[in-house]
Amino acid sequence: MSDPVLTVEGLRKHFVTRKGFPKPRTVTVRAVEDVSFRIHPGEAFGLVGESGCGKSTAARALLRLIEPDAGLIRWKGQDVMAARGAELKALRRRMQIVFQDPYSSLDPRQSIGSALMEPMRVHGIAEGAEARRRAGALLEEVGLPPAALDRFPHEFSGGQRQRIGIARALTVEPELIVADEPVSALDVSVQAQVLLLMQELRRRRGLAFLFVSHDLSVIRWFCDRVAVMYLGRIVEEGPAARVLADPMHPYAQMLRDASPLPDPSRRGVLPRILGEIPSAANPPPGCPFHPRCVHAMPRCSQVMPRWTAAAGEGQGGVACHLHG
Ligand code: SF4
Repeated sequence: MSDPVLTVEGLRKHFVTRKGFPKPRTVTVRAVEDVSFRIHPGEAFGLVGESGCGKSTAARALLRLIEPDAGLIRWKGQDVMAARGAELKALRRRMQIVFQDPYSSLDPRQSIGSALMEPMRVHGIAEGAEARRRAGALLEEVGLPPAALDRFPHEFSGGQRQRIGIARALTVEPELIVADEPVSALDVSVQAQVLLLMQELRRRRGLAFLFVSHDLSVIRWFCDRVAVMYLGRIVEEGPAARVLADPMHPYAQMLRDASPLPDPSRRGVLPRILGEIPSAANPPPGCPFHPRCVHAMPRCSQVMPRWTAAAGEGQGGVACHLHG
């Protein structure tokens, strides 16, 4: 297998806040704790978990949109954490993000043409008529007419705005797209169209993806490999086909069982996800999943499980005492 384009090792991000009334106290929210993964050229890597598991924070931290507290991030061997100024700007060109809500990332007073041409100018790719020509071609590539250049974000539907968000990410010719819940805010019929567009762009441009989602069916369809996150940690990682069909970690099994299935015979008998995700400000001792785990043993509440490789080369691994 070729060398990874992106390597993340031991990524950590904590937030310190003041909470409580009338005597506020300092609280540390452990949003991302020791997260490691690799993404290879052209690979779609999924980060999946319930809301609040830290997956979006991890995605933003690796792009340094928020500064990580610790960890190693390498883009083709280059140290992303050490990059400053022009070096960081060049790295950001290689890795672009598509947000869940493109409306919030587009300036309502800025025309679509201006929004697409601005990154080209900032990165010295094109200006003036050439930038406008490129912007029009990008709109066509994402399925919108070039005439949309002179219109404003409020004139478009949610699905069209997400297409514009994708076009904007492509303006600087990235090699990796971080897609943070890119279809979660869209109607189901529109979700499929936007997913098909991203799949087509991936194939045509050879793009790698870090695809962040709470939706297993979307991850199953889009991704080659997947990491399951729980309370800021990766609890299982491996090929999407293996992890989503035959998960090893009880949390991944619970997610799988709660996810809509294409098989109608299994619909209607899906168990609900048991309990609620605990606060990352006060994670349980030992295995963080033990208060919700139907397989919990006495040592699960005392000892953090080690990472154990799954049987077979390239099958990933799991952090669970059942497999340690
Ligand atoms: Fe469940 Fe124990 Fe495995 Fe945690 S380590 S997932 S509590 S069996």
